[in-house]
Amino acid sequence: MKKIEHIGIAVKDIALANKTYKSLFGYEHYKTENVASEGVTTSFFRCGESKIELLEATDPNSPIAKFIEKRGEGIHHIAFYVNDIVSEMARLKKEGFTLLHEEPKRGADNKWVAFLHPKSSHGVLIELCQDMEAKV
Ligand code: ZN
Repeated sequence: MKKIEHIGIAVKDIALANKTYKSLFGYEHYKTENVASEGVTTSFFRCGESKIELLEATDPNSPIAKFIEKRGEGIHHIAFYVNDIVSEMARLKKEGFTLLHEEPKRGADNKWVAFLHPKSSHGVLIELCQDMEAKV
């Protein structure tokens, strides 16, 4: 794991959350992106080496909609940057972590992503991510 790439925060209203985080940071988000496969709209703020990813559900059946229904707004996941997502997935599986899927998926911000089940990491949903330009 290289660094905390970003922290994902589930929000009900991304326009409102953008305003709040703009006030917090003193600058605007640098991108908004729709990830249709996950049923979310995302917005990214830079924060030094890391980022904050705001996530709003665009589909009532998306994981973000279900998360907010159960737990309300708040921290949804922590994403760690890795150099080789495929070998990290294999390593973590061997270590006993439960992967939510077997292959890396296309995520927001030009990343390959993979998620670990929160039950295998003390209640925290963990995302691994790697830049897409890097070969998988
Ligand atoms: Zn994320």
